[in-house]
Amino acid sequence: MELEEQVEKILAYGEICDHCLGRFFGRRSFGLTNDERGRGLRVAHALRENVPFRPHEGTCWICHDLFADIGIWADRVAEALGGIEYATFLIGTRVPPLMAESEELVWSELGLTGPEPLKSEMNREVGKAVAARTGKAADLARPDVVAILDPAGGTVELEISPLFFRGRYTKLERGIPQTRWPCRECQGAGCERCGFTGKMYPDSVEELIGRTAAEAFQARDAVLHGAGREDIDARMLGSGRPFVMEIVAPGRRTVDLAALEEAVNAAAAGRVGVTIDGWSTRAEVETLKSEKAHKKYRISVEVEGGIARKELEEALDRLRGAVVAQQTPARVVHRRADRIRERRVVDARVAGQEDGRFFLDVVGEAGLYVKELVSGDGGRTRPSLAGLLGRPARVIHLDVLEVGEHEGNH
Ligand SMILES: [Zn+2]
Ligand SMILES: [Zn+2]
Repeated sequence: MELEEQVEKILAYGEICDHCLGRFFGRRSFGLTNDERGRGLRVAHALRENVPFRPHEGTCWICHDLFADIGIWADRVAEALGGIEYATFLIGTRVPPLMAESEELVWSELGLTGPEPLKSEMNREVGKAVAARTGKAADLARPDVVAILDPAGGTVELEISPLFFRGRYTKLERGIPQTRWPCRECQGAGCERCGFTGKMYPDSVEELIGRTAAEAFQARDAVLHGAGREDIDARMLGSGRPFVMEIVAPGRRTVDLAALEEAVNAAAAGRVGVTIDGWSTRAEVETLKSEKAHKKYRISVEVEGGIARKELEEALDRLRGAVVAQQTPARVVHRRADRIRERRVVDARVAGQEDGRFFLDVVGEAGLYVKELVSGDGGRTRPSLAGLLGRPARVIHLDVLEVGEHEGNH
């Protein structure tokens, strides 16, 4: 079908605007906007048929004259963007299904080969108008913010890209979970049991860092991604545990990280400490989560009936380097699959002694259950310190001293 015939047929469908008419031939020629194309085709049609030229009037059956409102949409976007800090933006359009169906019907009935979809013209044209109003640049790959137009509701929604920073945290107090822990009773809705907080614990490492961070970034939320996690009753000492903090929907993007580090440490005084190393990315979160780091623990151990240092050291000699078979611990088996896994005890030695109790330093592969390594967990962990000694032993306190020495075998 020739171009003239196609135009003839399109005009016969019903009243159509220059944008929609031109867009059916959006990949023909260069240096034209779609409404220039549409107007040109309309003029050519009038000349060829030798009929009076009739511009578009009434309502376009495809877009309902959406393109007449590009300026209004650009104003709405500029207003929505007014409250946030950003360098680059992108426009997206939630095209009403009926509009998309209308143009697709014409594509297939006329076998058009080079049409442009309504969505892409709308995004581009509003984008140009927003750039002119704001002086900011559009970025198709990694915009700071995406403004989504909803023609059906007449609204603009912002999707602000998250920011990430990385660092290490120490946890100096026991009883603080790493991340928010929703109340078991109400699943976070709020009830008597949780004092209507929706949480099992008032604070978490995530919140102790995240509250200050979210405030600095004027963000909706801050989510902690840790390189593994420590038990709620274990401290995290030494150089700290690596983490990446995800800042959700930040209203500000240029925050001085050194000042933020100071503010977090002041606000979380004595409970959690942070070192912020720099900006990060979503990709680093994935790397962090897949890394298998050795962990070094400092534990205090109690052996029933007491124990001589020499006997303890002999048992530790046998644990050092051993591969331990651990069935999922009894304390967590209700929420994890019951299976046996093997982990290596990289190092285990006596670090000190106080009031009849010994302090041990244990370095284990990622995923080693240290409490069970000591107690034997009723035979579920073999070998264990209790098993080697032939009498009950248990961990009184447990701290993580170091997360690191990446194995790189992931
Ligand atoms: Zn139209
Ligand atoms: Zn509750």
